[in-house]
Amino acid sequence: MSSPDPRKAADLLERIRSQVETLAPPVAAFEKGIRDTPFRVLISVLLSSRTRDPVTLAASTRLFSLAADPETMARLNREQVEGAIFPVGFYRRKALRILEISRSLTGMDGRVPEDVDTLMSLPGVGRKTANLVRSLAFGIPEVAVDIHVFRISRRLGWSLGKTPGDVETDLKRLFPQELWNRINRVLVGFGQTLCLPRRPRCAECAIHTECAWYKALKESSSTQESC
Ligand code: SF4
Repeated sequence: MSSPDPRKAADLLERIRSQVETLAPPVAAFEKGIRDTPFRVLISVLLSSRTRDPVTLAASTRLFSLAADPETMARLNREQVEGAIFPVGFYRRKALRILEISRSLTGMDGRVPEDVDTLMSLPGVGRKTANLVRSLAFGIPEVAVDIHVFRISRRLGWSLGKTPGDVETDLKRLFPQELWNRINRVLVGFGQTLCLPRRPRCAECAIHTECAWYKALKESSSTQESC
């Protein structure tokens, strides 16, 4: 496969964005609902792993009605946190993490750090979460690679990376910095509505004629038909 063309990639991203906007993906309401403080962004992103966005948003709203800052959150007990965030996936483990993070932040004057290494030094915070917090809470250009960004970047031929870190590096090379913060939002919405993990809705996709994955699928089905 030849190297992806940066101008074509930017054009495809824009066309995906304009189609996804008409479909009101769950991620749009989720991001809008959690952006009030960097602490809420951090905790909500942590809650969101393996959980649907509407469930995460409701859990985050219940939790932040009990405690909206690290000091207050650190004073809650584990059962209170679990009760507020249930039924998010792994809610028991996440409740522990939330309390650990809140205690750590209390020792940092209650402020969420912007620096990626300090963010990643917090319990349970990996690179994807750190990048999302930097992007959503602080507006720092970042590319957060989650399962949707990983899958779609590979389908479109933007990256052949085998790890999220490889894909992040490829996307940062391919797109100008001013588009980095758009990539996660657009591709997550796209992955929730059209470019689904299984059975993507390719016939409705505005860019299907330019999708490497769709072309390969068509070629392999026409080869099978001619055999
Ligand atoms: S054509 Fe299908 S696989 Fe390709 S980007 Fe569109 S929905 Fe995804």
